[in-house]
Amino acid sequence: MKKLSYLFVLLLFMSCQSKTQAQDKPNIIFLFSDDAGYADFGFHGSKVMKTPNLDKLSDQGVRFTQGYVTDATCGPSRAGLMTGKYQQRFGYQEINVPGYMSENSKFLGDDMGLPLDQVTIADYLKALGYTNAMYGKWHLGNADRFHPLNRGFDEFYGFRGGGRSYFPYKYFKGIHHDNKMERNFGNFEEPNGYATDVFADEAVSFIERNKDKPFFIYLAFNAVHTPMEATEEDLKKFPSLKGKRKEVAAMTWALDRACGKVMDKLKELGLDDNTIVVFSNDNGGPTDKNASLNLPLSGTKSNHLEGGFRVPYLIKWPRKFKAGTVYNYPVSTFDLLPTFHAAAGGDMADLKDIDGVNLIPFITGDNKARPHEDLFWKKDVRAVYRHNDWKLIRFADRPAELYDLSKDLTEQNDLASKHPERLKSMFKKLFEWELTLERPLWTLKQQFEKYDTDRMDWFRNPELVKEYMKKYD
Ligand code: CA
Repeated sequence: MKKLSYLFVLLLFMSCQSKTQAQDKPNIIFLFSDDAGYADFGFHGSKVMKTPNLDKLSDQGVRFTQGYVTDATCGPSRAGLMTGKYQQRFGYQEINVPGYMSENSKFLGDDMGLPLDQVTIADYLKALGYTNAMYGKWHLGNADRFHPLNRGFDEFYGFRGGGRSYFPYKYFKGIHHDNKMERNFGNFEEPNGYATDVFADEAVSFIERNKDKPFFIYLAFNAVHTPMEATEEDLKKFPSLKGKRKEVAAMTWALDRACGKVMDKLKELGLDDNTIVVFSNDNGGPTDKNASLNLPLSGTKSNHLEGGFRVPYLIKWPRKFKAGTVYNYPVSTFDLLPTFHAAAGGDMADLKDIDGVNLIPFITGDNKARPHEDLFWKKDVRAVYRHNDWKLIRFADRPAELYDLSKDLTEQNDLASKHPERLKSMFKKLFEWELTLERPLWTLKQQFEKYDTDRMDWFRNPELVKEYMKKYD
C-alpha cells in the first residue's frame, strides 16, 4: 500500500510538471507482433515474406541488429517492456498460461498478472500529459485489477489473454473471458472482420480523434501467433508456399498491411515528422508451431539461444533520427520506457528503479558507448548472462555453454572448456544479479522445462532447420 501511495504522489507531481509544451511532445506508436520469426521480414532479407510497409519503416528509421526482448515467451517479455526492467525483479518469471504452471506457485489462473505496485510505460506517459490506447493482446493478467484501463491506458479494444481466433466467435458459451474481444472495460464485442485489420482500424480511429494532443498507442497484434488463421484473399498471395508456411506468410502480409495503414494515417494528418514509431516482436518464432524462421539465428521461442529472444527492432522519428541508420550494439525492449519518457520531456530522475536506458543519445551518436555491457535472461535455473559479446548459458540438465557472438552468431562453437576462468567469473556475476531478484510468483511445470530444452536442441543446427522447412516448399 505504501508503494502505491508513493506512486500516486509521484505521478501527480509529474503531471503538474508537464502541462507546458504539450504540443511539442512527439506522439508514440508501438507496433508489436507476436511469435514472428527473426528472418521473416523483408528488412531482414526474407525473399518469401512480403513486408513492404515495415521495410519502408526500416529504411526511414533506425534498424537495430541486436534488439532483444527480456524473455523468450509472451507474458514475461511484455512485463519487461511495460515496466522498463527485468521482470524477474518483481517475480514475473514465467509465462502466464495456467496449464503450464506448477501447483506450488503462489498465484494461478486469473490471479497471475503484472503486480499492481509496478509503474507501467502508460502510467509514466499519462503523467506527462499523454492520452494512451492499447489494442490487441494484453497478456499481463486476466483479473479486472490487471486490466489495461487500470494500468495507465485510457482506451482498450482487444483481449486479456495470450491468444485467440482472428475471426469473431459466433458462440460465446464456454469461452473464457480472457479470450473474448472487449471494448474498454467489460463490454464484450467481437470484431467485425479479421482481428489484425480491426486492431489497425481502431488505432486509426484513435489517431483521428486525438491528433491535436500527444498520444501513445500500444498496438499489440496477436499476429503471427497460433491459431494459424488467414483470409482466403491473403493466402492467395503466396501460391508457391504450402501448409503453415503459406499461412504464416499470409498472416505476416496482413500484419504489414495493418502497420502500413497506421503509418499512412500519420502521413495523411501531417503527424509523421514528430511521431515515434517502433516496431518489434515479443519473442522468437516457434518454428514447430507456426513455421516461422529465425535463421541465421539458432533456437526458437521459449529457449535461450539467440533465436529465442533476439527480435526485429525498428524505431523511426523523422524529427530526430537519420533515415537508414543501422545500430549494432545490443538494446532491449526495456529501453523503450526510458526512451519514450525522455522523448516526452520527462525528467529521468522520476524513473524509479529501472534497468532500461534512454536510447536517444546512442541513436544520434552523442553517446558512442554500449547502452548495456551486461544483459541477463532467466527462467528457473536456465539463465543467460551476456557480457559485451560473450554469452554464458546455464542449464538445469547439462553443463553451461559459452559463446563469442562476435564470431559465432549461430552459437555452434561452445567455448566453455576453453575459457574456464571467464566461465567462472561470468557465473559469479550471474549469481550476483540473481541476488537482486524476487522469488518467482509462479513457476513452470518441470515437463515444460524439458519441452523447452528439447525444442532448443531440435532447432539449434541451421542445416537441420533448413531440412525441416523443406516440407513447406
Ligand atoms: Ca509471443
